Amino acid sequence: MESIYGLTKNDLSLFLASHGRSKNLAVIIYETLYKKKSKQILSTETWNLLRNNYSFDLPVISVSSKANDGTYKFLIEFVDGKKVETVLIPFHKRYTICLSSQVGCAMKCSFCYTGTMGLTRHLKTSEIIGQYMVVKKFLETEIATAALIPNIVFMGQGEPLHNFDEVQKALEILLDSEGAALGPRQITLSTAGYLPGLKKFNLMPNINLALSLHSPFNQTRKDLIPITGQYPIEEIFSALDKVKLMKRQFITYEYLLIAEVNDGLKDADELQNLLGKRKSIINIIPFNPFPGSTYKRPTEESVENFKAMLVERKLRTMVRLTKGTEILAACGQLIS
Ligand code: SAH
Repeated sequence: MESIYGLTKNDLSLFLASHGRSKNLAVIIYETLYKKKSKQILSTETWNLLRNNYSFDLPVISVSSKANDGTYKFLIEFVDGKKVETVLIPFHKRYTICLSSQVGCAMKCSFCYTGTMGLTRHLKTSEIIGQYMVVKKFLETEIATAALIPNIVFMGQGEPLHNFDEVQKALEILLDSEGAALGPRQITLSTAGYLPGLKKFNLMPNINLALSLHSPFNQTRKDLIPITGQYPIEEIFSALDKVKLMKRQFITYEYLLIAEVNDGLKDADELQNLLGKRKSIINIIPFNPFPGSTYKRPTEESVENFKAMLVERKLRTMVRLTKGTEILAACGQLIS
């Protein structure tokens, strides 16, 4: 049976209308599912209609682990037994949920643990929403913090733009003010530069976009992110330049820093050429090693040096603190 969590409010209205019910019930159903309360109560008849047509099951947390810094990593299992990892990251008084969009990933980036497993399958909208629902429930019941709605990043397993339609629908549900009611600025989608999806990015609801850049040079970037061979940097940027940005909205450029690979003066100069004239924020992520990886993590000093070079070149730059490393919950360490 199809999951109720895969339906947008509009899908639900159409379903209700096709069964001779008022479309307005969709709002009440949405509030009941996502806000857990509604001014109106649904009749048993309506519940039965829904239950006879849709599954209300959520995926289950099969394993959870906690790092010293408060990061939780969950192994979440779907009905077919396939599992993905979802991470809950504390940040000041807020929480960020890092969602997966695929089981495995087809991008095969050379620095990424998830990439070593290949793509098993895309996730359905309901499975993306399911991760959010179970982790949010965990947050409310196990951590019970004052934190209201968590932020969302699509930075778990998978390339979200390679699973465009299901991700797009999940975003619509997350942003629905009568549903999960997240704000557009609370959601960030990160892409390896999958051009067919990037070209359609304006069809997504308005959210933040991050590009995993990692090198301003095609040759080096291709060694790191093989799809650069098909989708070179120039083409990625011509698509990025067409992305509609709101006032004070920037595109984030993730820059995985690897010792002796992309941490030199020429890299800083070329980043300035590429990003100096664009609305950008650079997010340096020091490489997180994993079993079998050959790249070297840069020293803290060289991370600071590289940051200083970028700042000197008038580029807005931050260093992303690595969270959850001892439980392999950090970027690119997710594997089932
Ligand atoms: N496919 C998407 C989202 C998943 S990866 C993308 O490529 O953006 C989320 C971020 O973690 C990306 O910036 C990715 O490059 C980074 N990452 C992957 N492996 C890593 C590793 N071993 N150390 C640090 N960051 C890594």
